[in-house]
Amino acid sequence: RVKEQGKNNYLFFTSEMNESIVRRTTMEKQLAIALEQEQLTLFYQPQVEASTGKIAGFEALVRWNMPERGLISPLEFIPLAEETGMIIQLGEWVLRRACEQHKRWIDEGLMPVIIAVNISMKQFEDDSLFETIRHILIETKLPPDLLELEITESIGLQGADQVINKLNRLKTLGVRIAIDDFGTGYSSLHYLQKLPIDTLKIDKSFIRDMISVTPDISIVHSIIRLAHSLQLDVLAEGVEVVSQLEMLAALKCERLQGYLFSRPIPAEEARALLLRQKLDEHYR
Ligand code: C2E
Ligand code: MG
Ligand code: MG
Ligand code: MG
Repeated sequence: RVKEQGKNNYLFFTSEMNESIVRRTTMEKQLAIALEQEQLTLFYQPQVEASTGKIAGFEALVRWNMPERGLISPLEFIPLAEETGMIIQLGEWVLRRACEQHKRWIDEGLMPVIIAVNISMKQFEDDSLFETIRHILIETKLPPDLLELEITESIGLQGADQVINKLNRLKTLGVRIAIDDFGTGYSSLHYLQKLPIDTLKIDKSFIRDMISVTPDISIVHSIIRLAHSLQLDVLAEGVEVVSQLEMLAALKCERLQGYLFSRPIPAEEARALLLRQKLDEHYR
């Protein structure tokens, strides 16, 4: 009996494993096709200036519009793209599309804002990133200081000097650099001080804790104080309710992003928000 059960378990796991391998390979192939056939699309989530409520920027967030499944979350395919190396191509596509898009809005007379693009760990480690960004800035003519690269805090594990050198080189292009998901990694104060960065983006788990059953704003407060002492901007992500907005504004957090203001929206809707802002100013 025991033996039989073992055998059954074995068979059970094998078929599960096969299934997931098949699913993965299929998805891998489909992702390559998606890149060719423009099945990827960028959504834009507003980043609001805390003191005025005006749009200060947009974070570009990739989605995969899969023919049979509809919109797929990046959480589902970015890890796969990272593992297969496809992230290099995908990341280049995201950068180019985001820069082109925003330059078009500026040319239309809409307000220039920051356009934030996520750079994955693999992309950051790839030696071609600098040249890729340099080319895209030349091609699209987007003013470099409008492009903010979001790099997650965990890059620190790669080796401090190498990271600092890479970031310094990227900074020579005139772009902005943000540390994404800040607070979830292990950056020491000493290390942080050496990084040529512009923005600390507080991870949404801390913003959530501000209003949990046992509200805790102490970490958020410390991060904001730390950022300001290093002359950095602070951006809070995951702002969902008014009480968070009020607390963050009181703590002089510069930018806010979250469902309270808007979910990530298609390009056309983002453009409409910029246009609305333009018209409001015009008729004020
Ligand atoms: P992230 O860079 O930390 O982006 C923020 C995520 O939080 C987004 O999820 C956004 O939709 C979500 N979010 C925004 N406001 C709220 C809120 O108020 N509450 C909650 N609960 N969530 C909120 P999304 O779009 O699913 O992206 C997930 C992650 O996928 C991103 O996290 C980023 O790490 C990665 N990602 C997305 N687009 C790209 C890309 O183009 N390249 C790379 N390398 N990674 C990307
Ligand atoms: Mg991000
Ligand atoms: Mg984040
Ligand atoms: Mg995150």
